[in-house]
Amino acid sequence: MTPNAWVVAMAGLLHDIGKFRQRARWSERRNHQYHGHQWVCDRILPHLTFLDVQARYQVAQAVLRHHEEGAYERDLRVVRLADGLASGERVRRQEEGVGDPSTELLLPVFSYLVLDGRGLAEADRHPWAYRTAALQVDDSFFPVYRSAARADYPRLWDAFEAAWRGLPDSAPTFHDPEAFTLTWLSLLRVYAWSVPAAAYKDEPDVSLADHLQVTGALAACLWELPDQALDALESDQDLPVALLVGGDVSGIQRFLYTISSAGAAKSLRGRSAYLNLLCDAVADHVRRELQLLPCNVLYSGGGHFYLLAPLSSEERLAGLRTHVTDLLLDFFGGDVSVVLECVELRASDLVPQPGASKSPLGERWADLSSRLRTAKQALLRDVALQASRKVFGPFGVGGRETYCAVCHSEPHQPEGLASRGLTRPVNLQAAEEADRKCSLCESFEDLSRRIARAQYLVVRRVQPRASGQLQWHSVLTALGTELWLNTEEELLQHHRPDDWVVRLNDPRLDPVDGGGQVVPVVGFRFLPNFTPFQDDGAIREMADLAQASDGAPYFATLRMDVDSLGRLFSEGLGGRLSLSRLATLSRSLSTFFEGYLNRICEQLDPDRAHLYLLYSGGDDLLAVGSWDVVLGLARTVREEFRRYVCDNPAVTLSGGTSLHHEKFPLYQAADQAGDLLEAAKAWRRDGREKDALNFWGQPVEWADLEWARGWHDTIRGWLRGGAQVRRAFVFKLARIASLYEARSRELARKGLLTEDQLRRRVRYDRWLWTLVYYLAKESAELQPQLERLRTELVDQDRIRHLGLLARWVELSTRDET
Ligand SMILES: [Zn+2]
Repeated sequence: MTPNAWVVAMAGLLHDIGKFRQRARWSERRNHQYHGHQWVCDRILPHLTFLDVQARYQVAQAVLRHHEEGAYERDLRVVRLADGLASGERVRRQEEGVGDPSTELLLPVFSYLVLDGRGLAEADRHPWAYRTAALQVDDSFFPVYRSAARADYPRLWDAFEAAWRGLPDSAPTFHDPEAFTLTWLSLLRVYAWSVPAAAYKDEPDVSLADHLQVTGALAACLWELPDQALDALESDQDLPVALLVGGDVSGIQRFLYTISSAGAAKSLRGRSAYLNLLCDAVADHVRRELQLLPCNVLYSGGGHFYLLAPLSSEERLAGLRTHVTDLLLDFFGGDVSVVLECVELRASDLVPQPGASKSPLGERWADLSSRLRTAKQALLRDVALQASRKVFGPFGVGGRETYCAVCHSEPHQPEGLASRGLTRPVNLQAAEEADRKCSLCESFEDLSRRIARAQYLVVRRVQPRASGQLQWHSVLTALGTELWLNTEEELLQHHRPDDWVVRLNDPRLDPVDGGGQVVPVVGFRFLPNFTPFQDDGAIREMADLAQASDGAPYFATLRMDVDSLGRLFSEGLGGRLSLSRLATLSRSLSTFFEGYLNRICEQLDPDRAHLYLLYSGGDDLLAVGSWDVVLGLARTVREEFRRYVCDNPAVTLSGGTSLHHEKFPLYQAADQAGDLLEAAKAWRRDGREKDALNFWGQPVEWADLEWARGWHDTIRGWLRGGAQVRRAFVFKLARIASLYEARSRELARKGLLTEDQLRRRVRYDRWLWTLVYYLAKESAELQPQLERLRTELVDQDRIRHLGLLARWVELSTRDET
């Protein structure tokens, strides 16, 4: 039997689906409850074998009557309250909106964000909207000018219906409420992401997909409240309604970056992807232990998850935290950890305060974030204490040569493994010392390779167990889940009927049809996996990527992330923040990093010879590759991101890129790019901050990068095109730059001058006369352009970036004379 809390959650997930159908069939002049009820009774409920007659009736009634005032049935009241609280309304709105929803478009939530007084003016916000389109891996989910977007709900609805009808009868979707929820959320994400949840008086910037999910999640939480509490909520009293639970799964720096050995470069992607798979698995574990449906996990990505849980879960959560923390400690000895915290949400917390600069929900959100941070710091301290004991403690029996060449752990470490019935042997038979790896490190290399080719993620429920050799999936198995990353061929070979098959990076749910076998797909997700391959199909080595650069044979790393993300969530929408809006905001951001980054890489590197996307998700990315292509990646990601967030100055991106010789260890390079990113975020000038790229150690504004690129291309063109300038010209520019830099340093050391005085003083120094002299000696034909260069360097203060420009040109023309 399906638990009652699940029945109301499903009613919540379905309650407003009629809004989608109503928009597609506007000429029928029926309200959305009618459309929803008819369709759900006709197309959904008859297929769900896990619902008994009573439960079907309850769901159907909730869809039909969720606007009815004074309904006494408990499930109707719960869905009605959940609907109101999800969209941030205590007292239900009554009427359908005026106007014609069949022509209305979803507006980008990004255009409303304001931070520290920065944001779009009303007039600049107005033109943006989303097209009504099914989710594709292209830019069709980017905002466009309203004049370029026309609503086409009939077509979108038809595609949605066809996708539902296309699920084979054998799909777990029809027999398992959890699988149904996953399928339903995936379908909504693909087909209803661009359908506005409500027209009404408010701006339609909340997606129906997110609103339905949040309503379902809240309904499950409200179900356990006593009747008096429901009465009180209906009469607008303030009471606690749910817990907002946050989880943070992270690898201590050591897990990701302090691993040496050239061949080990192949496991970095496996390690970072693992943290995300583990994050999903922990979120899933917590959810299942709390007996909630997948809709209650509001977000999981970038190593964080958030879920809504009933108030009664608090004690159980404490137990779960201990269980998961102990498990990870035994498996990884503190290198991978999880923190789990929660805050109580009151009804009043969910109600936006239009016009206010802050919302109570934003404050709860910030509160949860700070608890997670504190918990993480406490955990790091504990781990550091333990690690120091390890360093000073007696070494194991074997001596250095028995250590894993990648992670340096002794065989069968950490100590807790044995108590779990696991071992971590090091392959000491390997002829090459570099190949003496422990079972875990070997499994990460395997995971890296698998991610590159996987088309499906297969989820299989098993009895929690642990045995054998420690591998990346051991912890997941201990939590009761097996995960497989399969190609289509592998899937067809080893599929079992109860498996949940999730299609990767291709937003479709049609079944896999091969060799007379039909394998149902229950969901869809993104898993960025852009990988450079050699001719023999192996992943290219760093040295190859370095050699494939244009010019000097170096490789580069790039890390980027969204500036002030926590504050954007808690403060960016001011008083307008609601749970549904929060869900729309986080999902929209992750669609860019999880879904679109692969696409950008494909466009920049169609032959898959230069770029390796090690990680992208949540709000950040890590990539490596040929240095010139990595620079192109930084620019393109930034440009595309600006377009994605409607050019809103409140939503910015910073990055750090480093440059390395091919033999430099990748782990250290990736770690350094992280430090460079931090330095870019600390960048400040003329009242602006962040929103910068740390370019080989020097933070620059994005506009300065564009300036440097323009001149880089021009000068390289001169060098290549009939030797209008000689290579010595580049060295002259470098010399001027170093004169300037030396003088700036000297003046700065003396102190006393304000930044402004300093700039003025440096501006008319010796470098300037050297510049004038050098430029004048170049060919007459180039003089007009060189005059422009001189003006920009001097009058626009670009002289600060001349050193970078000279170095850039020097590197990209290294093999030319
Ligand atoms: Zn190892």
